[in-house]
Amino acid sequence: MLAAGHTDIGKVRTANQDAIFVSAEPVGPLPNLFVVADGMGGHNGGDVASRRAVATFCAYIQKSAAAPDGWLDLLVAAAGEANRIVFRDSIADPALSGMGTTLTACVIGGGKCEVVHIGDSRAYMITADRITQLTNDHSYVNEMVKAGQLTPSQAREHPKRNILTRVLGTGPDMDADGYVRALTPNATILLCSDGLTNMLTDEAIGDAAAADMDITARVRLLIDEANRHGGLDNISVVLIDTTDETGLR
Ligand code: MN
Repeated sequence: MLAAGHTDIGKVRTANQDAIFVSAEPVGPLPNLFVVADGMGGHNGGDVASRRAVATFCAYIQKSAAAPDGWLDLLVAAAGEANRIVFRDSIADPALSGMGTTLTACVIGGGKCEVVHIGDSRAYMITADRITQLTNDHSYVNEMVKAGQLTPSQAREHPKRNILTRVLGTGPDMDADGYVRALTPNATILLCSDGLTNMLTDEAIGDAAAADMDITARVRLLIDEANRHGGLDNISVVLIDTTDETGLR
């Protein structure tokens, strides 16, 4: 399986509060593992939250002997452990008070993509002619869209578009979503932070992600395009080519 990822500070921010993890090789009982997290919080809180969440999430999976109840249950349990650690540390250190992070992670196998998700980082499934968002943003504006009170294009411009309704690490309990989606043949999976999706339309993201270039060059192209359109936030991109898994050849 071919996969690549990169996180970029963008053109405006003075720190990168995103964190990623990319492994096309097994991690614990999982055949591969991919993670994007976008931290928030004053001082260094955002950096600490996203990095600690990713490290805790991956370590929990690495030390799991098996996933008897399925991969998705393991992803959800690992996210719960990451929540516990980030929240614990936010209480222990006043400088980190209130820190939190998004977390969007997936494993690919058996013709499926299994995703755990909290916050507004996203997973997409992309083919040459179609881009499908797999996750549902936990954001104020998305709640307004679902309630019919904003259109998607109004949501993109809304001043409160950065307000999240669910975050990892800000409380003792966390409500993450889990998805199991069948892979479309030759699909590319994208995990990304809002520094990509606030700068580029889904159509532009789909075009760049499916460009006729190797996977590392497509990651670079997506980040370059987000920076060319302003780069107002940190930009994280993970691409996974599932042709090995689903290809018709
Ligand atoms: Mn962001």
